[in-house]
Amino acid sequence: EKTSVTLLGLGAMGSALARTWLAAGHAVTVWNRTPARSAALAAEGAEVADSAAAAVAANSLVVVCLLDDASVDEALAGADLAGRDLVNLTTSTPAQARARAQSARELGARYLDGGIMAVPPMIGVPEAGGFIFYSGARELFERHRETLGVPAGATYVGDDAGFAALHDVALLSAMYGMFAGIAHAFALIRKEDIDPASLAPLLTGWLVAMAPSAHQTADQLRSGDYTKGVVSNLAMQVAGTPTFLSTAEQQGVSPELLSPYFKLMRRRLAEGSAEEDLTGVIDLLLR
Ligand code: NDP
Repeated sequence: EKTSVTLLGLGAMGSALARTWLAAGHAVTVWNRTPARSAALAAEGAEVADSAAAAVAANSLVVVCLLDDASVDEALAGADLAGRDLVNLTTSTPAQARARAQSARELGARYLDGGIMAVPPMIGVPEAGGFIFYSGARELFERHRETLGVPAGATYVGDDAGFAALHDVALLSAMYGMFAGIAHAFALIRKEDIDPASLAPLLTGWLVAMAPSAHQTADQLRSGDYTKGVVSNLAMQVAGTPTFLSTAEQQGVSPELLSPYFKLMRRRLAEGSAEEDLTGVIDLLLR
């Protein structure tokens, strides 16, 4: 017998989640603030509850996927959470997740927080590589591991309820750094007779080749030795920065995305060692 699921929130993400559970043979009870959105899911076999409280009462596993933390407050206001397994997939900060875990405990519920590393079209498509970080009550994760694994791979990152959100934001922050680099690279060629479509595969290949440097960074952070395994040392890299800035200038491109990182590299060189990797920049970011 497959676990029945209650799902609060039928936005783009909630609807995608509901569909994968229905398709996998789970009974699903849904609620959405705007009832019209439930109709499509009802046609696909979902039970529609007419209030969030009724949806929560319907099943012990309650998944929430709403816009933000405030909307979770609003939706759960009248619901009796006692004895429920509450899984909150709404994007939140680590502090919001910890506060939610605390209040769930006080209301007699077990709590898991989630961070979705996927866009809706990746939900229910394992080969798309999306996954969901979970943190909080481990026994809840173990009990529902199979159900939680239906929409996307489920990765448990610790019993601190804030850790899923923290991992989510860490990965997305790295992604924005990558987006910034890609923007600068395209800007550099924009005024030339170079087809952006010819740069794109070169860029992605290079970024994929460089990404595993994260393992070396981790290794250096663990050992505390930032010179461990260094291939391109900090002094050499800092010496190269004028080339990047002059090229930007020659191409009529603002250095505003690149400069802050170079500034940190120079500061670390002044305060640290020439033989280090770029890992020391991390220490400068910690306040
Ligand atoms: P949508 O904007 O499509 O849907 C938002 C949902 O929240 C709707 O069901 C909406 O109800 C509901 N809602 C908003 N405010 C309230 C409120 N005050 N009370 C009750 N319900 C409310 O967002 P998504 O479905 O895309 O996103 C849901 C969560 O998933 C977010 O936290 C998002 O960060 C996260 N996520 C989304 C991704 C994406 O690519 N879409 C990727 C990764 C995470 P109504 O229909 O009545 O407006």
